[in-house]
Amino acid sequence: MSWDELAPDGVYPIAGANALFLEPCRMISSAYAHYFALPHRYYSRSFFLRHHDHSADNPQTQLPQKKRKRKRKKPIHNHSNPKELLAEQRHQGIRQFILDAHQAFLAIPEVSDLLKSLEDLVHKSKGSSDCEEIHDTGTDMVDFVKLSYVWQSPFYDITLFGVQGSSLRSTAPISTFPLFKSTVENNLHKESIGICAGTTVILPEKSRFLMSDFADTWRTLASHLGNDYNFILIDPPWENKSVHRHAPYSTLPNKYLLSLPLKDLANHQGALIGLWVTNREKLWTFVEKELFPAWGVNLQAIWYWLKVKSDGQMITELDISHHKPYECLLLGYMLPHHKKDSSQVPPPKVPPDKQVLISIPGDHSRKPPLASLLSAYVPGHDQMRGLELFARDLHPGCTSWGNEPLRFQQTQYFSKR
Ligand code: SAM
Repeated sequence: MSWDELAPDGVYPIAGANALFLEPCRMISSAYAHYFALPHRYYSRSFFLRHHDHSADNPQTQLPQKKRKRKRKKPIHNHSNPKELLAEQRHQGIRQFILDAHQAFLAIPEVSDLLKSLEDLVHKSKGSSDCEEIHDTGTDMVDFVKLSYVWQSPFYDITLFGVQGSSLRSTAPISTFPLFKSTVENNLHKESIGICAGTTVILPEKSRFLMSDFADTWRTLASHLGNDYNFILIDPPWENKSVHRHAPYSTLPNKYLLSLPLKDLANHQGALIGLWVTNREKLWTFVEKELFPAWGVNLQAIWYWLKVKSDGQMITELDISHHKPYECLLLGYMLPHHKKDSSQVPPPKVPPDKQVLISIPGDHSRKPPLASLLSAYVPGHDQMRGLELFARDLHPGCTSWGNEPLRFQQTQYFSKR
């Protein structure tokens, strides 16, 4: 049984558990008529870096191993440190729940088919062509953050083209925008192509983005992006030792998040807010005691993203104290701005608490796409109008802001259908 037969949209509900098994490439691809997200690009870390080294199975190719004493990671419970104690209590509160969800996942009759078909897809996609030939703009991916620092950055533009029919030739240019510090919109009801800074990007239908640094735009975000969002997803570059060490992106002091003008961005009838947090207790205390009160957000539910390897096992042991195999999404509501709005808006359908999302992770810190899973819970009568802050990709009908929202939109991540 393949994903096509079992879960063509990439979302597989796990029977008997409050859990879903996600295939993010399928979820992303469902937003595009002409392209699909390349699995080998999405899962480059999971399937290739950490992939089993088969040469180790062959005694002839085995090199003599220097015996190294490996420091065993032990489940440290430093009860003398009150923060560690609180973190441990929090973990103990949900660990059985996560274990049960994982057990239910491994017990799906088709689990090995699903994992195997994913592995086949990843390896097959490695051999397939990607989209470079649409525009001959080179094969290197662009680092937009670095590009934004060069003195010429105000002169960079992005020109949008429509995509024509099955030949995927682009049409005449639709419009040109400054690449940085300007809101760029694909207002077509189909994807368009953008040419910028020597690379080609794909913009989903009705998507918008603003590529700028927090320092330059935090005061003016709402004037750039509007004030009508009923869903705001935030994945901040939290200060974190591991992020410093591997430095995939720069971090922001947590306190700066207090200045995010969330109330100005949210619809006056209220908004569903999703905030990704790491497992550090200091951060949870900051969010619960300072950040959510400052933003006016009431916490309603917590979802757990459990990261598994290509064989379905958790990426690390569950009880290692500083490196859990799960991350948390806090979901809360920003209430309507005025009392009279509250009486007109029906109370939203609240997301279920302790939902577990299971998937094989992609690039460092890349989260599975959530808009389709959360659209049922936005307040008000209307469709989801989504905004993602600190985004690295775009979604149909949504607005993305950050210093690199085009990162995963480069054509190297896609192939033609
Ligand atoms: N949600 C994203 C995903 O799934 O791929 C990951 C977001 S990552 C945790 C944080 C992002 O914030 C990175 O893209 C980083 O470059 C960006 N960032 C860091 N400092 C920033 C700043 N001062 N202004 C805007 N964006 C910033």
